Amino acid sequence: MAMTAVRAAAAAGVPASLSRFRGALVAAVLGDCIGGEFEGAEEVPMESVMQHLNGLDDETKGNGILEYSDDTAMTRCVVQSLLSRAGFDEHDLAHRFAKEYSASPGRGYGSGVVQVLKKLSSPQINDVYQPARDQFNGRGSFGNGGAMRAAPFALAFPDLAHVKKVARLGAMLTHSCSLGYNGAVLQALAVHLSLQGALALPHQFISRLITEMEEVESEEAALRDARILKEAEKPFCERLHRIRDLMDRSKVSIEEVISELGNGIAALHSVPTAIFCVLHCLQPQESFPESYSGLERTIAYSLALGGDTDTIACMAGAIAGAHYGIEAIPQSWIRCCEGADDADVNAKWLHVLYHKSPQGGRSETEDKSENGTEKKTRAE
Ligand SMILES: [Mg+2]
Repeated sequence: MAMTAVRAAAAAGVPASLSRFRGALVAAVLGDCIGGEFEGAEEVPMESVMQHLNGLDDETKGNGILEYSDDTAMTRCVVQSLLSRAGFDEHDLAHRFAKEYSASPGRGYGSGVVQVLKKLSSPQINDVYQPARDQFNGRGSFGNGGAMRAAPFALAFPDLAHVKKVARLGAMLTHSCSLGYNGAVLQALAVHLSLQGALALPHQFISRLITEMEEVESEEAALRDARILKEAEKPFCERLHRIRDLMDRSKVSIEEVISELGNGIAALHSVPTAIFCVLHCLQPQESFPESYSGLERTIAYSLALGGDTDTIACMAGAIAGAHYGIEAIPQSWIRCCEGADDADVNAKWLHVLYHKSPQGGRSETEDKSENGTEKKTRAE
């Protein structure tokens, strides 16, 4: 292992250290802000990526010059809701999403989610999951909008089963197709495992994700959606197997990664891609300066794939940040990105919440009946 990787791993410290929480939440913001430059680009030459990143060192530029987009706006809502409710509360979260959108609608939200957010802002809304279910003639969205904001669930609760459950519920507020919300489950799982130090053994990391997603994708709704959309029986598992194959190759081109995993706005075409970016950049790459930490490599590589760069870099950033910790992030990058300082503060509070709830805590949802209408029973 290269010395830089050893140093970064040492800096991140023990599993679930504060450094890892800070790294995850801050690097997610960085991926979003820095990745926005190339969003939608079909081809991104590595020279353009490096030019963009080198520009962040220019101290004459103002603080927070790179604005965050919907990825961070919605992630902030998740964080604030988890912290203020000390657990998952779908009504509170739905309300925060709607409020955030109406306060700042120009953050690059997709047109589909805007319809949902407008319905969620209605004071009459009873079932907060209904607007998402109504999307696309009742089929629901399979975009990556649920996955892009899933990291905080892994940072709030230590219990894996609970993380899977709330990541799914949190995504279903806007993405009711299993190919959408299971992308969020996979992203949260990846952050959870990374936080535990699991990326020290990359092949075991991917095997564990496959095992977990085998179970997740065995559900009837997932099997049915995959059939309807003519995907593999267990689409995310199939992609994770492709990642394992790519990891075993001595050389992988950007074109191969895009053709095998995708770089688009569907969760299936971006969450596995983000995971691959992290795994691929664990070792130094010729294309990047030797001085780069693994986290810097991961963000840079995510941008070079083009496509939905802000979201892929945001998701890859969260996973990588949970592995390398805050020390692997350059100060100049933090300075340039709107919301990075807030993320750092919030990460410290999530760290407290996580360590307060060894069993994952009880969520609002668990305190309610199936249809979610029963009165809250948990004391505030
Ligand atoms: Mg965005």
